[in-house]
Amino acid sequence: MIKVFLKKGREESLMRFHPWVFSGAIAEIKGSPSEGDVVAVYASDGSFMAFGHYQIGTIAIRILSYEEDVLMPDFWERRIRAAYLMREKVGLVGNPETDCYRLVHGEGDLLPGLVVDYYGGVCVLQAHSAGMFRARLRIAEALRKVYGDSLLAVYDKSSATVPFKAGLEPVDGYLYIRDGFSDKGFSVLENGHKFYVNWKEGQKTGFFLDQRENRALVGRYASGKNVLNLFCYTGGFSIYALAAGAEKVVSVDSSRRAVSSLGDNISLNGFNDGRHISVCADAMDYLKKIPENEYDLIVVDPPAFAKHRGALRNALRAYQRLNADAISKVAQGGLVFTFSCSQAVSREAFALAVFSAAAETGRAVRILDRMNQPSDHAVNIYHPEGEYLKGLLLYVE
Ligand code: SAH
Repeated sequence: MIKVFLKKGREESLMRFHPWVFSGAIAEIKGSPSEGDVVAVYASDGSFMAFGHYQIGTIAIRILSYEEDVLMPDFWERRIRAAYLMREKVGLVGNPETDCYRLVHGEGDLLPGLVVDYYGGVCVLQAHSAGMFRARLRIAEALRKVYGDSLLAVYDKSSATVPFKAGLEPVDGYLYIRDGFSDKGFSVLENGHKFYVNWKEGQKTGFFLDQRENRALVGRYASGKNVLNLFCYTGGFSIYALAAGAEKVVSVDSSRRAVSSLGDNISLNGFNDGRHISVCADAMDYLKKIPENEYDLIVVDPPAFAKHRGALRNALRAYQRLNADAISKVAQGGLVFTFSCSQAVSREAFALAVFSAAAETGRAVRILDRMNQPSDHAVNIYHPEGEYLKGLLLYVE
């Protein structure tokens, strides 16, 4: 196995179990690893530290283990079983109301570079590193062992996420499919609400599982309200609001495909009762054009404005502008549920952007709640970067 030696004084983050080795921390590589190879990492004094996946880039090694277990044939099964047991502990496995959850959340499950979302028997895998992509067949095999006969299919959707290097040319497709399984019109249950999930054509793995609890929170406040759901995707927040008895719900997304699926989800839940309106438009333009006081509850859940640190300043400005418009338009005594899923934007920076937005409008604004990512999007305590979803519930006078 290829050995990587760290520079003196650059071992500290690994000693604190942070799962990344940056290229600048490497003193010497003995041999020439290919992307995705498992390499052994050594301290400058030659003592062994960990095993990880090698990749060309700023993050050169993603740590898989501090022990030799990574070399054992049952490594993948053990890690995936541990992830499964955690979801079972928090009540997501075998839950009659919810049959979809994130099974593997990268570093949060000690599997950096891997995402696996579970949809009612189907696992959708996304590799964000060459190493995880190269391990996909072993991962699929491990999923079969963990779920047994209940597993319907494993779909690999890594083409958009795995770095296109080292001759990897990922093509999305099934790694396993049980006889007779069809993905046509496949739907899941989330807190008793039904949603079609199309992992082949939808965004990410097909559905945004990370908003499950925040959708339920919107449901708690939506009865009798006029609701505006901006960046609605397939209508997660809208369905909860309609189920809770909202008077009217307007859902806005710029993706034609998302808006079409949203319509299907409205029908699937039996909400073709005239209370819902779908709009395919730019949410920021739409918000600017609506009159004040029309909506009592506005959900603002944009895509990640800052995909990396370099985009931070512009992203914060965009959050401020968007939130200023939402705060100025919401009815008196109204609620704004505002989110950021940009990992590069800290909770504090986001709160500051929303604070500046509120100050711009001059309205009295109280923070009623602070929202997070749910437990199945677990954060490894040694990897605070795993925390990415944050939100504020604002009461606007
Ligand atoms: N709230 C959604 C998830 C939002 S993901 C849920 O609960 O499932 C972000 C969404 O923003 C995507 O659906 C994307 O199509 C949409 N989007 C991106 N840019 C947009 C824009 N400028 N205007 C409207 N929608 C946009």
